Formats: sequence, structure tokens, C-alpha cells
Amino acid sequence: MRGRTDAGTRGGPARAARGMAGAAAVLLAAACLAIASPLAAQVPTPLSVLGFRVGADSMLASWRQIDGYLSRLAAASPRVRLDTLGSTTQGRPYLLVTISDPANLARREALMAAQRRLADPRTLDEAGEARLVQTQPAVVLISCSIHSTEIAASQMSLELVRRLATDSALGSALRDVVVLLVPSANPDGIDIVGDWYRRTRGTAYDGSSPPWLWHAYVGHDDNRDWFMLTQVETRLLTRVLYKQWFPEVVYDVHQMGGNGARLFLPPFADPVNPNLDGMIVEATNHVGTAMATALSDAGFTGVQHQSGFDLWWHGGNRTVPARHNMIGILSEAASARIASPVPVGPTDLRQPARGVNYPLPWTGSWWRLRDIVDYELTASEELVRLAARERAGFVRRFVRAGRRAVEAGRTASPRAYLIPPAQRDEGARAQLANLLLATGIEMFRARGPFAVEGRSYPAGTLVIPLAQPFRAHVKDLFERQVYPERRQYPGGPLLPPYDVTGWTLPLTMGVTVDSTRDAVAADLAPVDSVAVTPGRVEGTGNVVLLANRSNGEATAVWRALAAGASVAIAPSSFAASGRTWPSGTLVVRGARAVLDRAAAELGFFAVAVPRLPELAGAPTLRRVPRVGVYRSWNASMDEGWTRWVLERLGVPYTSLADSAVRAGGLRARYDVIVLPSESPAQIRNGRPAGSVPAEYAGGLGASGVEALRAFLQDGGTVVSLDQASLFAIGDLGAPATSVGGGRVARGASGTSRFSAPGSIFAAIVDRADPLASGMDSVAAIFLEASPLLDAGPGGRAVVSFPREGNPLLSGFVQGAELMAGRAALVDAPVGRGDAILFGFSPQHRGQTNGTFKLLTNAILYGAARAASAGGPPAR
Ligand SMILES: [Zn+2]
Repeated sequence: MRGRTDAGTRGGPARAARGMAGAAAVLLAAACLAIASPLAAQVPTPLSVLGFRVGADSMLASWRQIDGYLSRLAAASPRVRLDTLGSTTQGRPYLLVTISDPANLARREALMAAQRRLADPRTLDEAGEARLVQTQPAVVLISCSIHSTEIAASQMSLELVRRLATDSALGSALRDVVVLLVPSANPDGIDIVGDWYRRTRGTAYDGSSPPWLWHAYVGHDDNRDWFMLTQVETRLLTRVLYKQWFPEVVYDVHQMGGNGARLFLPPFADPVNPNLDGMIVEATNHVGTAMATALSDAGFTGVQHQSGFDLWWHGGNRTVPARHNMIGILSEAASARIASPVPVGPTDLRQPARGVNYPLPWTGSWWRLRDIVDYELTASEELVRLAARERAGFVRRFVRAGRRAVEAGRTASPRAYLIPPAQRDEGARAQLANLLLATGIEMFRARGPFAVEGRSYPAGTLVIPLAQPFRAHVKDLFERQVYPERRQYPGGPLLPPYDVTGWTLPLTMGVTVDSTRDAVAADLAPVDSVAVTPGRVEGTGNVVLLANRSNGEATAVWRALAAGASVAIAPSSFAASGRTWPSGTLVVRGARAVLDRAAAELGFFAVAVPRLPELAGAPTLRRVPRVGVYRSWNASMDEGWTRWVLERLGVPYTSLADSAVRAGGLRARYDVIVLPSESPAQIRNGRPAGSVPAEYAGGLGASGVEALRAFLQDGGTVVSLDQASLFAIGDLGAPATSVGGGRVARGASGTSRFSAPGSIFAAIVDRADPLASGMDSVAAIFLEASPLLDAGPGGRAVVSFPREGNPLLSGFVQGAELMAGRAALVDAPVGRGDAILFGFSPQHRGQTNGTFKLLTNAILYGAARAASAGGPPAR
């Protein structure tokens, strides 16, 4: 069962027919045994298959058990179809359960085609719309446990499917509703968390979180990936959403902390993103309050609305659909300790005050996995019943919102976005276009040159007209966010944003995108995918000069090193092949064929010359650098993203656990050690003793800090990212100072403290510095709780903020005046080694292609410096 990579189907109409025949036999037996429902008799219960009741204390179904049970249901019930969409990062089957009336399942392809037309009203005439409003079921998608410690929903899903398969009232509702159920949006995490839970169950660590990410790379940030689509799991479900089913409602089932309200449901909190259709916001409120009403009717209490979850941020499992005219619902249940019950006594419980957003305070004293299952089950079933009751309204609203988006795109500015060809980073250009296409955005390629608003564009320019139904999605990705400052009261403390405040992709990815107020008149061909335009190495000879403009060139350099080439970073400008090459040019000797292939594949241009004198003073690499990436037991997402970006760029590395650092002797094994962003206390202290088994407790500790100091003294390079730079300064003695760094705490006071809670800024790059190889003189950089830096004695500021004006490009900043002239990237020599301090996230969530290069430069340059510093002295 594991490791299946095909998109396979189990159950469905063929089995449904057999199931119906079987049902007749069971019906006879049921009559004798007085069993209420003939369907219930043939559809196994979770208890009969798992051996325990869903939500039983301390019991969790593994992914194999979930798959096995759903397979049994699909085989037994004509209402249930089970598809494997593909294979997860770790090779588990990614499952989608489709549950509806058998007649609907039999015409599934036709229903999907009709959803596509509803999603794009330009394809519907009045009669066609009227017919679909009469006949088309509403489609709702329920996604469970994308966050794997929030595991109840994955268990609940088993009981939900059985209820939908057997309950007669729900069966009637399913004539008007198609339910798409994702039992987990991160199947790997169900086992990562489940295995850890079973390992620690009944020990002192019962109910603790695992000391590693519950996804190979991204952990909790798997719900930050829904426009960037870096991970395979995101891509699999995105295809269902915007290529196949176009559901009217997407319900994302989560959990939160355990001490407050029992369940959050919409209405969401302010602010509302300006690109969201108010009609969809109203409908979201409506669905949330219908769920809450069903819960209170059934005797549940403790449901809260309008707490911290807002409608501003883009990138989540519910927020990207909301920009596709879909109703995005979130529920957040109070958590148990994974599957272990928790007492919630009056002193632990911090309920909100009773009010319109919390009308029924909770009165319990224990909280169990089964409680979460019951709340989520009730909310899910109400969604199905509501979608059936109001089917026509859901269908009509979806069409209307699409029409409104198309109309707005015809009349409001901008009318279109333009992505010209021949950009600095061809790979980023193609990636940006493809992630838009994958999320259902309509795009065209100009067959010939054209002009708009007095600007000329060549053939090959990509054109995205905004008169399209998913306009809000692309507009919100391309425009600059202006986050409305919100304070508890005028002049009072800031209300912290829910997540990042700015995400403008052309800025983070370093891709030029123009907008136009005029409609584009050009000969346009529709595009369904964008390939990288091949580049090439021009000229003859085995010395290749790389301007290092693209990330493809960074990848090529690592391939060349692996093939035995040497790489030098030009310390100043020089002449070759009839032109002047700037400082930072990469000179690669001895891997022409490798670079020819890489240029064609990755889309960059380079120049070869037969010979070039050695460049005096050039940092040079003659072998593949040995790179370590520190991996704490805090399960750092930034660490995961760092690995993901390095792997994507082809930079080999070794992960370094606390014990490997503490063991010392690092310089003999590594040239560069990367410290992903974590606070100094997290790095030093790790998880407290007693909270996890001893081998995962304690962080680097004094011996680890000492080992890193020795690594620097011995000529190694430490590259610290974001908050880890505070550790490099405070604990490793990197000569630099810092201001700020950390989140805007809820209720934090003060108006001058610097805080950039996920925002994009313009920064000035010292292009003469080897660390800036290939960069432009101004870069858009992403700060999230990042510190501002000042270079100390002997250090250099490589990237810094302008001395005047507010450098904010997108999102929100507090205390911008503190940024003036401060550094965001500092090269700080320590002993014979070097600390390269980032005061921003060069690899933020895999989205910042425009600054990946600063990270690869730091590793390349750091390793070359380490090579020239020599190895460790004999001791
Ligand atoms: Zn969550």
C-alpha cells in the first residue's frame, strides 16, 4: 500500500454497482435483525476495523490504518470513492475521498466539467447558468490535519465518512452535495506525530511534540505554501481545487491552544484584505455561524468568533481559495495533549468574556481527543446539510462572484499584468508563471511585439488580463500590500498581525512584472505551461565567466565544483573577451561541458575564453565545500526551508545536530556552518530537560557554543540567518551590534520599537563586495521579526537600508526610522574565520528567489575564505 505513486482509484461506480447488489442481501438480513439502516450493516465501523473507537483516549489511527479503513468503506459503500492523488514527500499515498449520492459519483466527470464552467462564468450563458443552478450539486472540500499535531480531524474523518455513507438524512443531503474529503493534507505528518506519540505514550513525555518537523521540510509552514506550491502535497491538492473540482466551499480543520475557547469559527477578525469579494466574506460569516448554531443546538458550548484569525493574509489552505471566489472556512478546536486527555481546571481556563462573539462559555473540566472529534464532526455535518439546504444559493453565488471579478477586471485598474521575457533569472520567471497557471490563472503569450501605454514589449511577453474570475488571487500576489495599522486603542499598543503582512511575489522572486491601466491589444496565444528558455555558453575555451545573475548560475557552479572545476570570485573588475567584467564575476575553470548543459537547462548565458590569468587576491574554491546546516531539536521551520532551498539549488550539505556540534573538531569536517533562524535562547538551551527524552534536550549548551567559537578561530565560516545572527553576535563574538529582532508580542507596548512582522523592504547592495556577486544595487529583502544590524570593528555592511526615507515596499513596519543606514547583511571576521550575518530571511519560505543568491554567495565566498585561511592548527 505504501509508496504507491500512481494516481489510482478504489471504489467508485463499478464497485458501487456490486455494492448495491450486496445491499439487497443485507437488507433481507437486516429485516430479521431489525437493524436500522441496511447501509450501516454492510459498511464497517471504525471500531470493527481499527479495534478502538475514533477519538478514544490515547489512541491514534496511523496513515496505513486510515488508508485501510477508507479502502474498506469505498469497497462497501456506493456513496464513497477513494482516489490516490499521488505520493507524498516520504512516499505515502495522498488520499482524496469523494462522497456523494451514487448517481452523482456515476456522473463525476460531468459534474467536474460543470464546476469548471461555474467557476468561469464567461463560459456560461443565461440558460446554461439557470440549468446548472437547478441541477448542479454544491461541492464542499473538507481538509483535515494539515498541521499534524492538530491530529483529531484526521481521526474524525473516518467517522465522518462512515456517517455520510450510512446515515439516511445525510444520504438525502448527498443528492445535492459532493463532499471532497482530504483525511490529511500532510499524510507524512500523521505518522511522524503518531509514531512519536506512541513512542512517548505513558512516559514522562506523553503528549509532547516531536523534536523534528512533522514534514520533511516545512512543518507548520505547510499551511503557508498555497500560492508558492513548493511542496508536493500542496501541488496535489491545488490541482483538485483549480483544475478539477472548483468547490464552492473549502473547510480547513485545525486546532489551537488548549486553555481558551473550545472552538473558533468564522466570522474572522479584521482586517479584511481589499481583494476579497465582500459577498464571499458575507457567505463565510454565514457558514461559520450556521456551524456554530448547529453546535449550540446540539448542546456544545465554548464557540468563539472573531478572535485572532483574520482575513488579511494570503497563502493558506483557506485563504487562497477565498481569492478564487470560494468560501474559506477555518475551525480551530482547543487541543488535548495530542491524544491524551487534559484536565482544564478553572485556574487553567482562560475563556473570553461572554459576549456576541462568545455567547456560550464552556462549562467542562476535562478535554479529550473525542471532544475535538465531536465538535468537528458536528461542524462538518452541518456544512453538508447547509450546502444541501442552500445548494442553489451556493452555486449562484459562486457564479456571481466570478462575474463580478471579470467585470472589475474590465473596468478597474490594472487591466493586465505583463511579464517580459529575457529577465535576469529565467528560472524564477518560468516558476512564477507556472505557479499562477497551477492556481487557475489565465495567461497568454504575445505572438509578436506590441505596445501598451507607450511601452514596447517583445514577442514572448506573458500577458495576464485581469478580466478573469480568479482576478483577486493574481492581483493580491502582484500588488504591494498596504497593511492597515491596528492598535488596541488610539496611540496604544499594536495588534499583531495574524501572519506576514506582505508577500508581493515579483519583489520576493526578483521578477519584473509590469501592470497596465490600458487593455492590451496584441496577438495572444493561451498558455498552459511556461518552459525555461534555454541559455548557452558563448565563445570557445575552458574558462567560463558567469555574471551570476540567476539562481541557475549558482546551481551550475556547484555542479562544476562536483565535476572537479575551480571557481574564483573576481575581487575587482577585469577585461576579457573584449568587455569589462565586474567584481563578483565567477570564473569557472575546467567544466565547460557541465556549464554548457546547465546553461541550456537552467536558462542562463555565459561567456567562455581560452585563457585568463589568475585574478590576484580572488577567493578561490578548488573542491566542493563542506557545508553543515545546524538542525536543532526545536523543529525549526526555517531550518527546513533552508534545507529545501539548498537542495533545490543543488548545494550539498550535512545536517548537524547538537551532539555533532558539541563533539567539536568542526573545522576538520566543515568549511561553512549555516545557522537557520532561531532565537539565541532556542539555540543555546533547546528544549528544557524533562520536556523531551534526554537526548533531545538542552540545545548547543556551553560546549556547543565553544565548539562553534573554535570553528571560527580556526578559519571556518558561520552563516547566520535572521534571529540566529543575534546568537552569532552575543554568543560567538561576531563584531556587530543589533537593534530589535523578535515578534510584536500581543499587547506589547511602545511605538518606536522596530518590528517588521513579515514585510518587504528596499535595501542597498554594495556591489563591490564579493558577497554581492550578481546582485543589483537595490534588492527587495524580506524581514520577519528580524534584527537591524550595525557592522563592528573590521566588519563590512554588504546590504544596508537607505539613510533617508521609509524603505518599506510591501506589508507593515513599526519604527522604520530605526532602519536608517543600518545593515541587513554584515561580513564580520572572527579570529581567522568569518561570521556572515543576515538580518533578514534570504530564503523565506522558499519564496525569495531574488535573494537566494545572497545565501549561496555567502556559502561560496565563506568556503573560499575558509580555504585560504587553511585548516585547523595542530593541537
Ligand atoms: Zn493549524
